[in-house]
Amino acid sequence: MLECIQSASFGDSGRLDDEGFGGDPSVNLLEKLAAELTGKERAILLPSGTMGNHVSLLTHCSPGDLVLVDTTQHLYRKEKAAFDSRFGQLEPLFYHLTEDGYPDTAEIERLLEQKKPKLLCIENTHNHAGGTYIPFSVLDELRKLADKAGIPIHLDGARLFNAAIASGIEVSTICGFTDTVMFCISKGIGAPVGSLLCGTKEFIAEAAVTRKLLGGSMRQAGVFAAMGHYALTHHIADIAADHRRARLALDNLKDLQCARVPDKIQSNILCIDISGSGLTAEQYVRALKEKGVWLSESDETHVRMVLYRDITDAQVMEAVKIIKEFDRRMKQPESAGLQNHAG
Ligand SMILES: *Cc1c(COP(=O)(O)O)cnc(C)c1O
Repeated sequence: MLECIQSASFGDSGRLDDEGFGGDPSVNLLEKLAAELTGKERAILLPSGTMGNHVSLLTHCSPGDLVLVDTTQHLYRKEKAAFDSRFGQLEPLFYHLTEDGYPDTAEIERLLEQKKPKLLCIENTHNHAGGTYIPFSVLDELRKLADKAGIPIHLDGARLFNAAIASGIEVSTICGFTDTVMFCISKGIGAPVGSLLCGTKEFIAEAAVTRKLLGGSMRQAGVFAAMGHYALTHHIADIAADHRRARLALDNLKDLQCARVPDKIQSNILCIDISGSGLTAEQYVRALKEKGVWLSESDETHVRMVLYRDITDAQVMEAVKIIKEFDRRMKQPESAGLQNHAG
């Protein structure tokens, strides 16, 4: 990946020609590959997934517009600026996920009949739901509902390739159900920086203007675009191993006493319910970090383990050992207390 930068050419990717391409050949190569993979006409490079989602929402919508988002969706819960009264001024119209972690189409249908949202946002795989993918039949249903209402669909595909591998649905097929898609190359794909927003030629030309307004136009971005291109041409298939390692962790954490793992997981995220531990998610994460295992908070009662290409089977098993040991020690004071009480 480092070697490919040495032979890459750079330029000003913010200055677009009549065809809508910028002046950085390495960025153009990456954008063409992203468009090809997603089956869209064009793609545009952005420094982060957050900016990619924001450029998309602010290009699709105007201040005051209603936008369908699920209550736990990253672009609402974590990013927010598109809905902030100081910034995007969009209005969320909430739908929920089913127990299986994908959009509740019956609820969306009802909301579309009652209100007039301008955009439907979905997330695939779904971060907060524990890396769940949206099944083909649900993607198809969502497309039909959006078409009936005459509104576009934006896909937050930060983990688009995880969704494709977990579901067995081609990336371009998933994206074929949506008008625009943002995906990250800086997560499981393993590039250092960057996200791509893909859509029609007209949409991406407008998105380039929004990107400029948000400060996302970049000079010499080829430095990291070249690495992103390398990652996208070499790393996609490896994502299956991340899913296997997440299952390895799951299979070995089934007998925790003070925390609970789900019966099944679909991709690279293992969401652990720690409500039985007596600790907040923040405390749990901090305690394990001190022991060398980096988890992250999902909400007050759940922590996440996210697998990616730098983590080996041996490291998964080492983490499992540390978590189990921590779990056992937490269990002890309680049983000691019971004994005292009884004695
Ligand atoms: C990480 C993430 C983003 C945002 O990407 P950044 O590059 O961190 O800004 C958006 N959506 C989802 C689902 C994510 O997991």
